[in-house]
Amino acid sequence: PVRVRIAPSPTGNLHIGTARTAVFNWLYAHHTSGTFVLRIEDTDQERSRPEYTQNILDGLTWLGLTWDEGPFYQTQRLDLYQQKVQALLDKGLVYRAYDTPEELDAMREAQKVKGEAPRYDNRHRHLTPEQRAAYAAEGRSSVIRFIIEDDREIVWNDLVRGNVSWKGRDLGGDMVIARAASGADFGQPLYNFVVVVDDLDMNITHIIRGEDHIGNTPKQILLYEALGAEIPTFGHTPLILNEAGAKLSKRDGVTSISDFQRMGYVPEALVNYMTLLGWSPPEGMTEIFTLESAAPNFGFERVNKAGAKFDWDKLNWINSQYLHAMPADKLTDLLIPYWQAAGFEADWTDRPWLERLSAVIGPSLARLDEAVPMSEYLFKASVGFTEEAIAQLKQDGSTTAIQAVSSAIADYQTLTETTVQELLKKVVKEQNLKKGLVMRTLRAALTGAIHGPDLVQSWLLLHQHGLDQPRLQDAL
Ligand code: GLU
Repeated sequence: PVRVRIAPSPTGNLHIGTARTAVFNWLYAHHTSGTFVLRIEDTDQERSRPEYTQNILDGLTWLGLTWDEGPFYQTQRLDLYQQKVQALLDKGLVYRAYDTPEELDAMREAQKVKGEAPRYDNRHRHLTPEQRAAYAAEGRSSVIRFIIEDDREIVWNDLVRGNVSWKGRDLGGDMVIARAASGADFGQPLYNFVVVVDDLDMNITHIIRGEDHIGNTPKQILLYEALGAEIPTFGHTPLILNEAGAKLSKRDGVTSISDFQRMGYVPEALVNYMTLLGWSPPEGMTEIFTLESAAPNFGFERVNKAGAKFDWDKLNWINSQYLHAMPADKLTDLLIPYWQAAGFEADWTDRPWLERLSAVIGPSLARLDEAVPMSEYLFKASVGFTEEAIAQLKQDGSTTAIQAVSSAIADYQTLTETTVQELLKKVVKEQNLKKGLVMRTLRAALTGAIHGPDLVQSWLLLHQHGLDQPRLQDAL
């Protein structure tokens, strides 16, 4: 059975790249009826923070990327790593290296002078027991290095990239798997090692992760061999690129899932969009889909090798599709926090009014936060007029139209869609005005702008709060 995982490091908020990797893992797990495991890689205790862990868990939950096992925390598994370091030491596949930072600097400096790429030259690979004892007696600490033979060739068949091969000599020399410690201790175990120990211990069968990890894979394959384990299948998904074609990074501004959430993207739209970042749905499948409905069609044959450009227009379009199709009660639940955060005042228990408002503005929304400027005129007692609205209000006939509408309103006990239409017809006829002019003028007067949501509906919403008459007076 397929077992996949994501293994975020809690050194920042849930990043869009990690979330997209989670989407592909989730889809593959569901495609194969497999298991999706979540592991928090918090061994780097200096950079890891509990609030980032929380942000990652919250973000995945919000996106609906439910995991079947975990979260597991590496900091709770340190004993296992120690045992595995010891096992490799016993097998002679790793060794203690006693180089001081100064010695390593000097080594790299010499390589630089010769124009060579920096690498560890394996100088402590064959120390005698006496040499080791002498270094230890000097009080030197030691790191644990894993032997990587220069002439080894490492090949794997990548789910996305096909055959990939690396040479041992390009891996930077014998690799540190545990940081420095004194005596017989091991220091902090490092990423490439713990990730293999964990993936092995958790029986992960497919490692699906970002292409930025491709250079770690040959090292990890050698570690699987050293630990006497079967090598899992690897798949490296294309990077997400910014509009300039460079890897999307913090400098691009919005990159964490909580940012997208705050901006008013809905999780269904965001996971839909993320699935399309690197995967193309098969012929005949629409671009709007739920994860559940995409899973049966998901596979790595349709994952591109090339980087996936982040396309805001496309994301906004997909988000708008979800908002437009959303029932007014659900949309209202999502919009209330935005209205409240903007300081708008209303009777938040008046669901009928709020839901009618949501239904009126819903078709114009691409993001939830747009509801704030779009509906301000419905909440505030008075609104400013845009320049275009002022120009509209100065047109011939505008004043007549406003006065006629204003006095006609008094003739009606209640305003409904039907009575409003009736009222408008009457005003047009009696005042001998063009209907277009009346409508444009009313929009400018009631909303302060010349474009916006449905005018009749807006008017009715204002009327219910007694705001239509004062607005008309303001506009005169
Ligand atoms: N902790 C690594 C990261 O956050 C996980 C990489 C992997 O999936 O092996 O990028």
